[in-house]
Amino acid sequence: MHLSTPNSEVVSGSCLCGGIQYEITGQPMKRILCHCDNCRKVSGSCFTANSFLTPSQLHIKTGESLIQSYKDTKVASGNVLNRRFCRVCGSPVYITSSAHEGTIVVPSGTLDGEEARTWKPEEEFFCKSRREYLPALEGTKRLVTH
Ligand SMILES: [Zn+2]
Ligand SMILES: [Zn+2]
Repeated sequence: MHLSTPNSEVVSGSCLCGGIQYEITGQPMKRILCHCDNCRKVSGSCFTANSFLTPSQLHIKTGESLIQSYKDTKVASGNVLNRRFCRVCGSPVYITSSAHEGTIVVPSGTLDGEEARTWKPEEEFFCKSRREYLPALEGTKRLVTH
């Protein structure tokens, strides 16, 4: 029988080049897909898939010096997003918002191992920009804007 509680679980992740390695402790506050224009641009895909965490849950193990940031000032909400990425390979690493200091956002695509495969969103943001070819997902709450 395994005795660890969900909040003591540690999952790890890394950028494409492997220069940045991180660990997340405990469960995310929320798991979301975002269909907004900015998330499409930054990912090069049609949405991002993000975990919302408290800052203390994320621990950058290696590669802190490789992290570069881009201040995204053209956000629909009017907030400024600080998008951190690896300056070697370009992978997104984490995002903070000027309006939500207690939240840090980590893209689930950089998770490694079993956690990456079983990650599932609970909510979808900006569904007014949702791409038509995407099938409906079961169990997500769809928000038109957010
Ligand atoms: Zn990298
Ligand atoms: Zn977005």
